[in-house]
Amino acid sequence: MVRSEQPVAGNVVVISGPSGVGKTTILRRLLARLPQLLPSISATTRPPRTGERDGLDYHFLSQLEFDRRRDGGEFLECCRVYGRQHWYGTLANEVAPRLAAGDWVVLEIDVEGTLSILDRYPEAVTIFVEPSAPDHLEQRLVARGTETREAMARRLEVAHRELKEAHRYRHRVVNDDVDAAVGQIEQILRTAGLPPQQKDRRWPTAI
Ligand code: 5GP
Repeated sequence: MVRSEQPVAGNVVVISGPSGVGKTTILRRLLARLPQLLPSISATTRPPRTGERDGLDYHFLSQLEFDRRRDGGEFLECCRVYGRQHWYGTLANEVAPRLAAGDWVVLEIDVEGTLSILDRYPEAVTIFVEPSAPDHLEQRLVARGTETREAMARRLEVAHRELKEAHRYRHRVVNDDVDAAVGQIEQILRTAGLPPQQKDRRWPTAI
């Protein structure tokens, strides 16, 4: 009997979409339903919003620390996200070791970041979440109540610009209904080869 010690390579999943489309809720439900999918925690220079926790929602870094890590080549991708004054980036150590271990890692990043990730991981499963109607974004942002009127207007302008980039993604999912959107994404991932949840999937045994 031969036991293969060769780890099965994992894959990268990228989820993008305009502010207010409900990405965070979708992602939270997806992670609860698919424990074999691991989140990449991004780094950012933006200050935490109420309720956000360092190391869980983001790695909140000073500009100095962010620059140090960027100069040290620690990011897979990073950029000043369009329309925001702050930097955001995916740390290599959030992704590479898990892929090598055969895990699937999900990134919630913008379009510019997605294109950099595709350069490095051409097989990445890219999913763009969009609203069924553009004014749903405004309703969600108002309901969320985390932005000033001025910031909201800026986010909406950015959101409309982001919607024009949807064609760059392999998959597009309309978020009319969160459960339906989560179900569709789950189906996309299973079709793309997301392994079933099982403890010993990394070390398949030849029979
Ligand atoms: P927020 O400040 O609302 O949490 O996120 C703002 C934007 O930054 C979102 O569009 C989100 O997708 C993007 N973003 C979050 N993390 C990253 C990252 O690591 N890289 C890139 N390129 N964009 C990110």
